Amino acid sequence: MSKKRMTATRRTVLKTSAAFAAGAIAAPRVRAAERSDVIVIGAGFAGLKAAIMLADEGLKVTVLEANNRVGGRAFTADHIHGSPELGANQIGPYYARVRDMADRLDVELGPGANINAPFTFAIGDTLIRKEDWESHSLNKTVGDEREALPSAMQGYYMKKYNPFDGLDDWLEPEAARFDIPLAEWLIEKGISKEGMRLANEGLIAPDVWNVSLLTLLQESTRNRMMSEGAGDAKGMDRFEMAALTSAHVVGGTSRLPEAMARSLGDSVLLNKIVSSIDMSGSGVDVSCLDGSRYQSDFVISAIPFGPLRRVTIFPALEGNQSAAVRHMPYANNTQVHMRLKGEPYWEQDGMDASLWTDGPLNMVRQPLGYDGSRDRLVALCVGKKGERLDQLPPKERGEFVVKEIERLRPSTKGKIEVTGVHSWPQYNFVSGCRHSYGPGQVTRFAHDMIKPHHRMHFAGEHTRRLEIGMESAMESGERAAFEILERTI
Ligand SMILES: Cc1cc2nc3c(=O)[nH]c(=O)nc-3n(C[C@H](O)[C@H](O)[C@H](O)COP(=O)(O)OP(=O)(O)OC[C@H]3O[C@@H](n4cnc5c(N)ncnc54)[C@H](O)[C@@H]3O)c2cc1C
Repeated sequence: MSKKRMTATRRTVLKTSAAFAAGAIAAPRVRAAERSDVIVIGAGFAGLKAAIMLADEGLKVTVLEANNRVGGRAFTADHIHGSPELGANQIGPYYARVRDMADRLDVELGPGANINAPFTFAIGDTLIRKEDWESHSLNKTVGDEREALPSAMQGYYMKKYNPFDGLDDWLEPEAARFDIPLAEWLIEKGISKEGMRLANEGLIAPDVWNVSLLTLLQESTRNRMMSEGAGDAKGMDRFEMAALTSAHVVGGTSRLPEAMARSLGDSVLLNKIVSSIDMSGSGVDVSCLDGSRYQSDFVISAIPFGPLRRVTIFPALEGNQSAAVRHMPYANNTQVHMRLKGEPYWEQDGMDASLWTDGPLNMVRQPLGYDGSRDRLVALCVGKKGERLDQLPPKERGEFVVKEIERLRPSTKGKIEVTGVHSWPQYNFVSGCRHSYGPGQVTRFAHDMIKPHHRMHFAGEHTRRLEIGMESAMESGERAAFEILERTI
């Protein structure tokens, strides 16, 4: 008998005897063929982790995934030149759950994560070398700020004044005083007008007045922990410092959720767009857009709030939980992937190859391949810049980006070919790159919005305690699985 089966038998005995003792069971219940103990909606890291834990405990689990692939925001674009990661890549040094899962499923991790060629800065139309920034006439920042690179202004203040030590300090009651607009705090800390403008430029949230300082302090704590051990990395941005101490999945991040889904066998069903969750009877009745129906004792929603808004839930969510699902903002991230041809443009103009701009693009990164290759570029637009770019049809987005790069760096002319365009806000079933909190929303929503609702439990990056990545998604799946296990014993 397998270990899994033995566990299941022990649990069944425990459950059954407890229920008989309580007088709850008169006779064994007859189950429909598609009935499970738990339905998990969404096969991202959160949903798959929850499903694996519940299956380990002998519960019958069905995972319903809307897409034709698993992984959600872990998406290795094998259809684009160079197989870029459209989503998650860095596996932080403290990502115990992710690392354990890779180990258990024999998914190979390699040292380091995606790293870019160093950046040149474009202020208006002027290209500035990193080493020239501090004394450059276009550096209009004031005092000590001057030494912070234009891309690192927010990080500079975070690094200097972040009071948090632990990853979940942001949820402690005394942290509520930081649930204010980022801008308010930066002003209190003495940021200059130009400093504020630069801090706004690269912000993934809508703007410095519409994002909670608390979430950014949480992210900064995470970045500090990620980059500890990177040594003296002056001049590197925080992604690069974190990349030095991280790991990556060999062959692409998608390989890990794919292995997780494989370990669940035929319990994972693709192309199942969940449209309603009905808990009015003695269990849960889940319907999908294709007309199929699934029943269970419990359900875990491991889908972002964007798509959850489109699911009918009965009895309906109430109060803060309902308001959170309806109103919580998501940050955006729009990408244009490109292939480089011809002579290296950075050798021709003598500037570092990646570009940070205060124009319509945020960054044009040159990813350095693990094999040392330098034949790709990726333009990233976040916040309002991403929203603006998304107004164009995909083909025109690519053309716009190439024109803008060629305008800023004439040495790139005729050398760039667009290979793919990806917008997380416009991507079905995710609708944003990551959940964000507006000022006051951590205090109002963070605790209430993850409470179980009847037989429904919540998981996903948006229900995080720890941080913003794959580890937090897995941690949330683990929490939801434990909540259900406690109810089934
Ligand atoms: C650009 C980018 C870069 C990132 N970089 C990193 C990084 O380097 N390191 C890191 O740790 N993290 C990174 N992240 C964050 C990480 O990808 C996420 O935190 C994590 O993957 C979220 O997992 P999840 O399970 O919560 O949600 P998701 O991955 O979004 O999974 C949700 C799933 O639900 C499905 N779904 C939605 N609606 C329905 C429905 N109606 N019915 C059924 N299924 C549905 C979706 O198709 C999806 O598969 C990055 C994210 C992005 C976007």
